[in-house]
Amino acid sequence: MEQLMDAIVKPAAGPGLTLRKVPVPVPGPGEVLIKVHKTAICGTDVHIYNWDPWAQVHIKPPMTIGHEYVGEVAALGAGVTGLTVGQRVSGEGHITCHRCRNCHNGDIQWCKDTLSVGVDRDGAFAEYVCIPQSNVIIIDEGLPEDVVAFFDAFGNATHTALMFPLIGEDVLITGAGPIGIIAAGICKFAGARRVIITDVNDYRLELARKMGVDAAVNTAREDLPQIMKDQGLTEGFDVGLEMSGNGRALQQLIGSMRNGGKVSLLGISNKPVELDMNTIITKGLTLQGIYGRKMDNWHQMSYMVQGGLDVTPVITHRFHYTDFEKGFQAMLSGNSGKVVLDWTK
Ligand code: NAD
Ligand code: ZN
Repeated sequence: MEQLMDAIVKPAAGPGLTLRKVPVPVPGPGEVLIKVHKTAICGTDVHIYNWDPWAQVHIKPPMTIGHEYVGEVAALGAGVTGLTVGQRVSGEGHITCHRCRNCHNGDIQWCKDTLSVGVDRDGAFAEYVCIPQSNVIIIDEGLPEDVVAFFDAFGNATHTALMFPLIGEDVLITGAGPIGIIAAGICKFAGARRVIITDVNDYRLELARKMGVDAAVNTAREDLPQIMKDQGLTEGFDVGLEMSGNGRALQQLIGSMRNGGKVSLLGISNKPVELDMNTIITKGLTLQGIYGRKMDNWHQMSYMVQGGLDVTPVITHRFHYTDFEKGFQAMLSGNSGKVVLDWTK
């Protein structure tokens, strides 16, 4: 007989989400069934909750959403080796083709045929989630589950922050959302000299201060060039991380870089952004787009946390999954960092 489980589902085209019973997935050949312990809410889940134009194009209801999670192996599909039931795991959310040029080269973040868990197929806001074995990440039992729950987003921050060398460098991060705040912690941990973060939301700037930034700047009322001077910067930032998706933030970032500076672009804009090409050219800037995570970022995250990087200041809310609505309201308020949902009964 088919077994049923609780899942947070987009039931039909339109705003909102519903907690309902759905069948427990059955792992096919090469797949792994994971019993979910904890999940975290991502901005993507909020787009789906709101049923915004992006969600209307990408989401095919009814489906279970969510892609940030930690749990344990519950069952193995035919042919799966090297994993045992009960083992602590998380999962890379991008399911890639294994055949394209980038996949062959190990650059799965640039696969031409990526499918996303919780977007293109059923997700992890459920008691169980099923993914291909190649996406399963074994997690050390010593790592805190509240943090591993959002390793997917932590991985975006790691990918962006570690794209360019950081030792002794002055870093500007535009956007103190959860990913910007985590990236600030990574930059300090990785040996940056000054880490300055900007936002227009004081609640989030305060979280960034708890993460140890040298300055958290509200650009709606504070003068970034003055703060750069106060922090001892003379030629501009060496490394820039764009993590807001806001065009004005990107323009400010480009204007604040030193000649020869390196810029990683993670933030996704909902409209085209005008850029001053001449500044990019005459400064000789390098601009690198960042998508998803590299598989190696999963190892780097585990080792950074084991090595003492504490990203728990970014966790602002914890709820049981049956209170998921409160979690989404916290995300929608803007006065939140990471929201973690507990799936244990
Ligand atoms: P978020 O929306 O929670 O945070 C963005 C922050 O930028 C907010 O706090 C907002 O107040 C701030 N902001 C708005 N205008 C600003 C301005 N002018 N200057 C400075 N800050 C400003 O997002 P998040 O979850 O932290 O993710 C960061 C960004 O990365 C988002 O744009 C998200 O869509 C994107 N993202 C990209 C990938 C990828 O693979 N490329 C993956 C995950 C997230
Ligand atoms: Zn591929």
